[in-house]
Amino acid sequence: MIVVMKQDASTDEVDGVIRYIRQAGLRPQLAQGAERNVVAILGSPDPEMKDTMELLPGVLEVIRISRPYKLASREFQPNDTVITVGEARIGGGGPPVIMAGPCAVESEKQVVETAIAVKAAGAKVLRGGAFKPRTSPYSFRGLGEEELKFLAKGREETGLPVITEIMSEQDIDVVYRYADILQIGARNMQNFMLLDQMGKVDKPVMLKRGFSGIIEDWLLAAEYILAQGNLQVMLCERGIRTFETYTRNTLDISAIPAIKRLSHLPIISDPSHGTGKWYLVPPMVMASVAAGADGVMVEVHPSPDTARSDGAQSLTFENFSLVMEQVKAISGVVAGLARPIGANP
Ligand code: PEP
Ligand code: MN
Repeated sequence: MIVVMKQDASTDEVDGVIRYIRQAGLRPQLAQGAERNVVAILGSPDPEMKDTMELLPGVLEVIRISRPYKLASREFQPNDTVITVGEARIGGGGPPVIMAGPCAVESEKQVVETAIAVKAAGAKVLRGGAFKPRTSPYSFRGLGEEELKFLAKGREETGLPVITEIMSEQDIDVVYRYADILQIGARNMQNFMLLDQMGKVDKPVMLKRGFSGIIEDWLLAAEYILAQGNLQVMLCERGIRTFETYTRNTLDISAIPAIKRLSHLPIISDPSHGTGKWYLVPPMVMASVAAGADGVMVEVHPSPDTARSDGAQSLTFENFSLVMEQVKAISGVVAGLARPIGANP
């Protein structure tokens, strides 16, 4: 259930609603929008509360939210969430934000060279893994803090904000110090303890879709973070497991408009992990932008054939620049279109 406040509702009236919800043994969550303030009631409110709360001063209406996820739903917040990091404005229309960099951080030189190249081509965020979740324990798993320092050097040299993965609760302090956006990987989509902790940090979080996560599971995972008070959450489609084996995963492009319809949270696409093959990345980047993605994450490496991780799906600097030209062309076309058909829930 959500309580929509009148446009001219006073702070006292909003506080009164919050107090009322707490007294009923439930948890209020305030979302302050440009046009209206909304208070979500977390928990299982008594259906009769709808009528009584509509009598409280400052309340415009009380709406039952039909979806199991509340704060993540468009019913709760009709306008897109916009997350601003550095020069990147993620969500809310506008050109897609491109996040690029190596799968794994290998050396300071590798990160700085890549950061300079991707920035020159138009990327707005630098990616790189220091703590690597690998399917096999024998694969390269990253070196941790030393590599985070290399990412910080990449940021220092280019001004690009950094996104990097956080794998466990014990790494929160160290990753928080270096990252501008915290990434929760596919393998941790339902690590609920970690999600709870991400809800308590004051930095944006990008939540990747699990291999077998259906869209509802994924939005409920985002709800864990939102319910703890961190409203800066973006989602990332990175491919799901299907019977197909030619590609590493099956990039679910349809998830992009589906998320846009169900949720106000920004949606990023990751065609690198979504396909596993560098030559499939450029067309899937274009498809993602055409489908309305707020951003795209792309793995880029100075020499993909010597990469310690995911070289087969990494673009060279030259190919990344070409892809960025294509992104500009496609996003220009998308921006010129009328509102996408079927976007309204
Ligand atoms: C990554 O982006 O570095 C990564 C490991 O991706 P995923 O969690 O999608 O496998
Ligand atoms: Mn990778």
